[in-house]
Amino acid sequence: MTGDEESGAQAFFLALRDSFDRILAAGRGDPRLVDALTAQAFECFERNAEIQSEGQPDPACSRGCDTCCCLHVSATAPEIFLAARFLRLTAPAFTRHGVDMASKLTGAHEATAGKSQQERFSSCLLCPFIIGGACAIYSVRTLACRGHVSFDKEACLAAAAGEDAEAPLSAAHRAVRSLVQSALQASLRDAGLDWGACEFLAGLDRALHDENCEARWLRGEPVFADLHEDDATARDMAQTFDALRSH
Ligand code: SF4
Repeated sequence: MTGDEESGAQAFFLALRDSFDRILAAGRGDPRLVDALTAQAFECFERNAEIQSEGQPDPACSRGCDTCCCLHVSATAPEIFLAARFLRLTAPAFTRHGVDMASKLTGAHEATAGKSQQERFSSCLLCPFIIGGACAIYSVRTLACRGHVSFDKEACLAAAAGEDAEAPLSAAHRAVRSLVQSALQASLRDAGLDWGACEFLAGLDRALHDENCEARWLRGEPVFADLHEDDATARDMAQTFDALRSH
């Protein structure tokens, strides 16, 4: 990264963090807080990923491709609660089609718990939200899902088949996703809310089966603390967030 790119990324992070701060200041304790935070995160991601990827080849990803939907997905609390709400709202429609999403989720969580990225990939355990080859929660999918963009479908298929292949991924999408997620986490942390990222299926299984989970999170309880992914990374992130806050 050049010096200009680094200061551009930092300015983007700070502006985003301030926007999340404003949402949190206005809506702390409001049940619509999750909607406001995720709407801002997703909108910022989509807009800036498009700008940053100008001139790149077209992504090979399209709705209906599930090749990478067996990878570990990392998510923050607002993303998890948004998906849980979506699943509660859509449960009757899925049930009418003979799909019990809550059970599918629990089964997938139990099957993938403790597995590394490589183990998940090689065991080909698809995300439980793949139905008929498409993501059933596409409109509320996580930043991690949005930020995983490949330029070569054949390479994705080869990697998924266990061949020694590596799909060329969009660095622009990955960088924007990381900045948006980090800014959201920095803001949540300063607001005294549980901010660590956890594995999506594990967090969602908990949020879906504990109706008070979101309300407790809004009160500042560390509802996902035992699911947080990596203490060392979280410590480094916290130090970086503090350094940037003192600028
Ligand atoms: S949530 Fe959707 S996009 Fe993300 S891994 Fe699952 S099926 Fe794929």
